[in-house]
Amino acid sequence: MMTVTKKRPVCLVTGASTGIGAATAELAARDGFDVVINYRSDQAGAERTGEAVQAAGGSFLICQADVSKPDDIEKIFLAIDGHFGQLDALINNAGIVDLTTRLEGISPQRLANMFAVNVTGSFLCAQKAVERMSKAFGGPGGSIVNVSSKAAVLGGPNMYIDYAASKGAIETFTKGLAAEQAQYGVRVNAVRPGVIATDIHAKGGAPDRAVEMAPDLPMGRAGTAHEVAEGIVWLMSNRASYVTGAILDVTGGR
Ligand code: NAP
Repeated sequence: MMTVTKKRPVCLVTGASTGIGAATAELAARDGFDVVINYRSDQAGAERTGEAVQAAGGSFLICQADVSKPDDIEKIFLAIDGHFGQLDALINNAGIVDLTTRLEGISPQRLANMFAVNVTGSFLCAQKAVERMSKAFGGPGGSIVNVSSKAAVLGGPNMYIDYAASKGAIETFTKGLAAEQAQYGVRVNAVRPGVIATDIHAKGGAPDRAVEMAPDLPMGRAGTAHEVAEGIVWLMSNRASYVTGAILDVTGGR
């Protein structure tokens, strides 16, 4: 008797060394994916994510790369071609904030870096993924999930309007690419997290932000990385087969 083993689908999660990306990698493996774990500087974190992916039944490939650098992005995708020879989904999760300030405190360098990571990085990763997944390029189809922020709607006043504007760009990008790819088998959606308890707040100089804001949030608490990841993996999966161009709030009602 011949047994046919079905290949597991493969997803790339950018910024998967910690926070929402790490949780997404783990839940993607639980849902049957093998996972490409990208990180920029936290190698130990990426290795921990790899262990979690393995424990959830997936295999993994770790790729160090700075998504603000086009050559680094090329490196990730060549590694995927060589190791897995297929790509079925991309999660554009890598993102940064910067120190809390108002418009007058935003330097040209800060602005350039913010958009290079949060916007250009997501565009260029999507471009490489579409080249491999889209039926327009002979691929089998696939799915992209971008990670926006409720700041795209609220504007991030007195904190980081540059970050908020970069996420506004991500939402417009999601709508546009979804329409471009709808007939070619690539669904493109986004999640819009609210205040989520991760290390990103400390990186923005406000380590206690999630705890301090909790009483003012509708549910009286911040969300967890896993709660956002549940939304991401649903949008990524075939369970969301008729969903494209959607932006899913994971904000606890904020
Ligand atoms: P986090 O804990 O700070 O994790 C960020 C991840 O992105 C890390 O793995 C980091 O890698 C990676 N990263 C940063 N810059 C990178 C670059 N240039 N190239 C490759 N990887 C890079 O953040 P998080 O809270 O999980 O946020 C994940 C996403 O959710 C971001 O897009 C963020 O804007 C969005 N979001 C978060 C919240 C929230 O409240 N936490 C709310 C709304 C939206 P290394 O550590 O290895 O450098």
